[in-house]
Amino acid sequence: MLILMSLDAPRKDVDAVKKKVESYGCAPHEIPGDVKLAVGVTGPSSGLKEEDFAALPSVEEVVRVTRKYKLVGRMMKPDDTEVEFGERSVGGEELAIIAGPCSVESREQTFEIAHQLSEMGVKFFRGGAFKPRTSPYAFQGLKEKGLEILAEVKKRYGMHIVTEALNQNTLPAVAEVADVVQIGARNMQNYTLLEEAGETGKPILIKRGMSATLEELLLSAEYVVSRGNYNCMVCERGIRTYEKATRNTLDLNAVPFLKKESHLPVIVDPSHGTGVRELIPSMTLAAIAAGADGVIVEVHHNPAEALSDGFQALTPDAFRKLLSKIKQLAPVVNRATAEL
Ligand code: PEP
Ligand code: MN
Repeated sequence: MLILMSLDAPRKDVDAVKKKVESYGCAPHEIPGDVKLAVGVTGPSSGLKEEDFAALPSVEEVVRVTRKYKLVGRMMKPDDTEVEFGERSVGGEELAIIAGPCSVESREQTFEIAHQLSEMGVKFFRGGAFKPRTSPYAFQGLKEKGLEILAEVKKRYGMHIVTEALNQNTLPAVAEVADVVQIGARNMQNYTLLEEAGETGKPILIKRGMSATLEELLLSAEYVVSRGNYNCMVCERGIRTYEKATRNTLDLNAVPFLKKESHLPVIVDPSHGTGVRELIPSMTLAAIAAGADGVIVEVHHNPAEALSDGFQALTPDAFRKLLSKIKQLAPVVNRATAEL
């Protein structure tokens, strides 16, 4: 249920509404917005009656929310969420270009890539310190040492750091360095991790599980937002299908669907989405054309020797060429770019 109140409703009226919601054993959420003051209701709302709220002072309208996801849905919050990063934001006009290696492998490797991306004007640097690998024998990441390297990159180049939290134990250390805490595809339905990540207050990027529906992805985002953290972004990164020509099938339907259903920024990962280096530029542009708010792309200066996902990494040169195409495309779809 959504209770819409006039924007200038006195605090005591808002508090009265919230108290009444609580008296039913439900949770009230004040939803940010500049047109109306909205109080969203989550919890066992079947006993709630619209009339009980409609009669309260400053209440203008009471709406039943029919979707399973509530706070992340457009019904509750029609205007786009913009996740703020100082002078820029994700989810507004500017496209978020996130680039960097799959894994932080060494100080030299990370600085080499960060340096080149920073020269191109890239503002968001990705790199995993804790890596979820299919095989327990594969490189698992530099872990805490990797976080230290990312902290140095942030200090030196001023780029915002996007890096994955694998579990609750290491979440505090990740959240200290990360400007965006990534929740990987394999953890999309790790609900306790989502809740705790939400509680850090940091921007969160949730990647779609490889067998997850879009409704499930939005319900995962609901876990973060229901912790009071609206700094949440969702990421289409490809799903498992019968097709073997690519690592995953990048589901670009997800972009307009998620934009229609939710106010959260939508990011696309064409690297994991294809797993084929040559396909990445086309699918990056397609994602932007479809309305994505940003892309996350793996870039490595020496893909042949990368310790993870080298086959789907663009070289810095190839990425520079892609950036120039992104810049040509952006104004056609009413977007801006920050990169040089
Ligand atoms: C990654 O971004 O390197 C990664 C492991 O992604 P995903 O969780 O989408 O597989
Ligand atoms: Mn990867």
